[in-house]
Amino acid sequence: MRGRDRIRSPGYYDRSVPECLFCGIAGGEVPATLVLDGKRVIAFRDVNPEAPTHVLVIPRDHYPNVAALASAGDGLLDELVTHAHEVAVAEGIADSGYRLVFNTGQEAGQTVGHVHAHVLGGRPMTWPPG
Ligand code: AMP
Repeated sequence: MRGRDRIRSPGYYDRSVPECLFCGIAGGEVPATLVLDGKRVIAFRDVNPEAPTHVLVIPRDHYPNVAALASAGDGLLDELVTHAHEVAVAEGIADSGYRLVFNTGQEAGQTVGHVHAHVLGGRPMTWPPG
């Protein structure tokens, strides 16, 4: 039975989804500029940066959005946020300030259905976001 045809229980998600771009990056089949290569979490530069620092932090396993990741309840969301801060420190933007964004759903502009935190910084940012 193919992964996406399995009956899913709450909090269960396939570890890797064949057609998922970010699963491809996590698996090394799709090239990316990695800035962090962890056991459960990786980070890589956004291919279309919106700020001098624009890094995406993702779990290796496939969760469609941040709510699904939170419901997994195994500390992976905490780990991802901790790594996002470490990326900000390494990029030299932790003290000046950075934005951590989880676009969630269509109207928020989520275009890739594998949860990712945008770490954005290196320039002053306006509020509200567009
Ligand atoms: P979102 O619109 O919040 O789903 O963010 C998806 C992000 O992925 C966008 O900022 C894209 O620029 C970025 N992106 C798409 N394809 C790639 C890729 N192959 N490598 C790195 N970043 C990518």
